[in-house]
Amino acid sequence: MSEWYAVRTTGIVCRVGCASRRPRPENIEWVSDLAAALAAGYRPCKRCRPDTEHPQEAFRASTVRRALGYLRLGVSVSETATRLHVSERHLRRLVRQETGASPRAAVSA
Ligand SMILES: [Zn+2]
Repeated sequence: MSEWYAVRTTGIVCRVGCASRRPRPENIEWVSDLAAALAAGYRPCKRCRPDTEHPQEAFRASTVRRALGYLRLGVSVSETATRLHVSERHLRRLVRQETGASPRAAVSA
């Protein structure tokens, strides 16, 4: 199974989990190579945008990556939050969502 599927009847590629109407199973074609599917004439869905990284996820991942970078250099959690322009509480939540651990545990891991 892959992350994307194309719908033969509409010619649209969706990311799994897309909120658009569920296609009939017989019309689904699993897409393992998104670039190839788009080159073959399939269009990316405008709702789930399979051709872009999910903006919110991308933002979270990059924020957490930078946060862990600061923390590894010995910067405190509150100072790290300030530098990333988020609240300390929000930073802790982002790190937990991304790594499944608290900032301290994520750094020592
Ligand atoms: Zn979609």
